[in-house]
Amino acid sequence: MADNNTPKPDKPPISEESAGLAEDTVGITSSDGQTTITIHRHFCKGCEICAEVCPKDVLKMVVAPDRWEGTIVEVMNIENCNACMLCEYQCPDFAIEVFNVKKEQKKKEKKAVG
Ligand code: SF4
Ligand code: SF4
Repeated sequence: MADNNTPKPDKPPISEESAGLAEDTVGITSSDGQTTITIHRHFCKGCEICAEVCPKDVLKMVVAPDRWEGTIVEVMNIENCNACMLCEYQCPDFAIEVFNVKKEQKKKEKKAVG
């Protein structure tokens, strides 16, 4: 008969890193300094929406076996980015942010005008 007091073998812990949860943010800036795309890799679930909506082929999925779905988005060609923001608006996980100097200036000007 099994002894209830026998300790069960421990399951190997799932590390935050292997689950894709460890904080891991990368930012890429265009050569003219105008545009920065930031990927919060720990939020990216590899759904590909951003890469599909990008009209300029800036984003590509790359293999990442340690992540949720085994893929993650990467910035491949920031020089082509027109800062349309589609990727940021469409990402369901707030994993991608686009910052563009001119757009930010325009926003500030609008606010100042009221
Ligand atoms: S839409 Fe968001 S979650 Fe999906 S691949 Fe792109 S960055 Fe990752
Ligand atoms: S801002 Fe527009 S062009 Fe730039 S990466 Fe996102 S979807 Fe592509």
